[in-house]
Amino acid sequence: MSNNRYPNRPPREVNPRNEPTGHFTGRCGMCGSNDLWDDNLTYGCNNCGKIYWPDGNPAPRLVPNRYDAG
Ligand SMILES: [Zn+2]
Repeated sequence: MSNNRYPNRPPREVNPRNEPTGHFTGRCGMCGSNDLWDDNLTYGCNNCGKIYWPDGNPAPRLVPNRYDAG
């Protein structure tokens, strides 16, 4: 097992233009990275390892209406 599973690059590297972060922005609310994965219920960050579980209503989503379209 490695302690370096996630690169944990600093915000000045992953979000140098200080773009908005958090739900619906396509960026991690913790570190600002846009290197994210998502599935039907959750999304998470490949940079810092944060996972956003569906603990809210509506559940957190990476981008708006992605699964509602069509
Ligand atoms: Zn992150």
